[in-house]
Amino acid sequence: MSAGVRLDRLLANLGYGSRREVTPIIKGGHVTVAATTVRDPNAKVQAADVRLDGEALDHPNGILVMLNKPVGIVCSHEPSEGQRAYDLLPAHWEYRNPRVESVGRLDKDTSGLLVLTDDHQLLHRLTSPKHHVVKRYEATLTLPYERTLGERLASGTLVLDGESTPCLPASVEVIDDDPPTIAISLTEGRYHQVRRMVAASANHVDTLRRTHFGAWSLDNLPEGDWTDITLP
Ligand code: URA
Repeated sequence: MSAGVRLDRLLANLGYGSRREVTPIIKGGHVTVAATTVRDPNAKVQAADVRLDGEALDHPNGILVMLNKPVGIVCSHEPSEGQRAYDLLPAHWEYRNPRVESVGRLDKDTSGLLVLTDDHQLLHRLTSPKHHVVKRYEATLTLPYERTLGERLASGTLVLDGESTPCLPASVEVIDDDPPTIAISLTEGRYHQVRRMVAASANHVDTLRRTHFGAWSLDNLPEGDWTDITLP
């Protein structure tokens, strides 16, 4: 077992307040460690042994969740950009260290599966182009689907406007004719990629929803809700 972490730093890093703010909570006898009240902010503790007002600490071993992001929500941390994905998570997560981040982003107009974590190594692995994590999107289109769109996406030769390297092959599955609905699975994460890929074939995405990110899928998670997930 490790030597443990300082109690005030542990609570601060889990978002319960700054070290200055958690000190009176500790000194006020609200914290127990292995069932004994501990009033020393410098005490070295194991997170699993700590209770705050009788409650186990929230996600002491880190955060890995998926959110079913509604349309109109932004993935930025910046509140001036509108309601944020982070606003749909518990408020004190905002103050956690390391910071909770979305794994890549979805456009404001895109709904669906967004992974968030405070494990920055994992975040880099999941977003690195080297790892080719498959993302699946369902898109409704303005115009009827034509096979040439699927062929262009699968070809690995499609160069998007303003870019010079072709998109990696993406697969298309037809879901419905009315409204025209397709699923696109791709392994990259370029800016507005699905919308631009479809636009390159003289069609237009009306609605876009991500249903899968790697091995994770939305299943029946209600819009606006989040749930813990585990590594596959
Ligand atoms: N492609 C897009 O165009 N938008 C997204 O949000 C994700 C992929």
